[in-house]
Amino acid sequence: MLRHDPIVRQYPQYLPSQDEVASTRKLLLQTENSKLWDELCQHVQIGGDPDAVLWRFCWQARQDGLCGHAVAQGALEWLKNCLQARTRLRMDSLLREGPFNSEFRELYFAAVPFSFHGIDRQGHPIVINRYGSVDVAAFERLWAAGEAVSERNKLEVNGAVLFHLRAMEYLTKVVMAEESERQGRVVDRILVIADLDGLGMRHWNPAVKSFLKSVSQESRNLFPETMHATMVANAPWLLAKGVWPIVKMFLHVVTQDKFSFVSAHEVQARLLELVQSESLPPYLGGSCRCAECQSGNLRGGSMQTWEKAEGFLSAAPEREAKPCLPAPAERSRTLMASLSAAEIFCGCFPRRSEQAATSLEANGRKSPRTPRKTVTWGSNLEDVRHISSEAVVSGRIAYASQQPRQRSTDDSTTWWDSTTRWLLVLAVIAIIAAVAAELLLVIYL
Ligand SMILES: [Zn+2]
Repeated sequence: MLRHDPIVRQYPQYLPSQDEVASTRKLLLQTENSKLWDELCQHVQIGGDPDAVLWRFCWQARQDGLCGHAVAQGALEWLKNCLQARTRLRMDSLLREGPFNSEFRELYFAAVPFSFHGIDRQGHPIVINRYGSVDVAAFERLWAAGEAVSERNKLEVNGAVLFHLRAMEYLTKVVMAEESERQGRVVDRILVIADLDGLGMRHWNPAVKSFLKSVSQESRNLFPETMHATMVANAPWLLAKGVWPIVKMFLHVVTQDKFSFVSAHEVQARLLELVQSESLPPYLGGSCRCAECQSGNLRGGSMQTWEKAEGFLSAAPEREAKPCLPAPAERSRTLMASLSAAEIFCGCFPRRSEQAATSLEANGRKSPRTPRKTVTWGSNLEDVRHISSEAVVSGRIAYASQQPRQRSTDDSTTWWDSTTRWLLVLAVIAIIAAVAAELLLVIYL
C-alpha cells in the first residue's frame, strides 16, 4: 500500500494527507459520482480495499501540483481517465476473453521474456523482465501480428501492447488479490527486476520503441503508482554511470530512489538483499529450481500456471523450450545498448515538475506545469548518433594506433595527440548529452 511503502515513507511531505483522501472518498460517495464509485469498487480496486486506490489516485493528483481540497477533484479526474482507458481497451473482459490465439501467445513469449516470479522479502510480487534477451526479429513479427490483431478487433493499440496490459491485469486481479488475502494486508505494489544482460544495438528498434512508448502511456492511466522499486540488473556502465545520473536530475526524488542500477558483479549480492535465494532464478544468482528457471525460458511465470488451471492453454500446442539466455558473443556494452536500456524505463518516470509542484502550500494552488514538448523522434537525432558513434570509433582507432609508438617530439604529432583526445572527450560528452536529451523527450512525450 502506498502510504506503507518503505521508500515512499522516507518522503512523507509528498504523500497525500488523510484529509485529502477522506475528501476524495466523500466526493466519490456523492450521488452524481455513484457510478464512478461502483466502477472503482468493481474493477479498479486491488485487494478489496477501495481506499488503497484512493491513496494512489490522490498521489497522482499531488504529482500534478494539486493540494488541499483540489486533490479530491484531481483524483476524480485520474479515476475517470482510468475508467475511460479500461472501456476503450475493453479491460474488463480482456483477462479471460482476450483476442489472442495460441500462435500469438507463443510469438509474444518468444519475443519478450518475462515472468511473475514469487514475492520479495517485503511481500511485493516480483516481475522479471529480461530486456536483454528480447528477440528483435521475433519482436518485429510480433508487432506485425499485433497490428493484424488490432485491425481485426478495431483496437486503438497494437495487440502486443494489449497483451502486456493483460499481463498487468493478471497481476492486479490475480496475484495481488491472492497476496492481499494471504498476507492480510493490501498488496498493490511490485518489485521489478529488469535484466539487461545481452542488451545490444539490435534493441534500438522502431517496433520496440513504439511498444515501450505505448505501454508506458497506457499503464500510467490504468495502473498508476503500483511500482515499489525497480532493480536494473547487469546495467551497462555507461547507462549506470553516464546516462542515469543525468536523467535522474529531472525526475521526482521518490522516483530516483525507486531505481537501482547494479552491475554484473554485484547483481547477486544486491538482489539477495531484496529477495530470498529460493525465490531468485539462478541466472540472477538465486537457487530457484522451478521449471521456468531451469529452462531459462521465461513464459509468464505464475501467469502461465494460472492460465493452465483456468483452462486457457488447453488448446495451445506445447512449444519446445528455447533458452532465452543471451548469446555471450552479443553481450556488448555499447553506447547504443545504454540508449536502449534507458529508454525501456524512461516512459515510467514521473516528471520533475511534479516534484516541484508538491512543495506548494496546501491551499489548492496549482503549480505551473512544464509544457509538454511535441518534438518527435526524428531521423536527425539518428544521424547525430550515427555520426557521433563513428567519431568515437574513429577516435578510438586513432588513439589505439598511437599506443605502441614512442611519443613523437614533432609538434604536429603532439598537437594531433592532444586534439584527438579532446575530440574523443567532446564526442563522449556530446553523445551523453544527446542521450539525455532524447530520454527527456521520451519522458515528456
Ligand atoms: Zn523459478
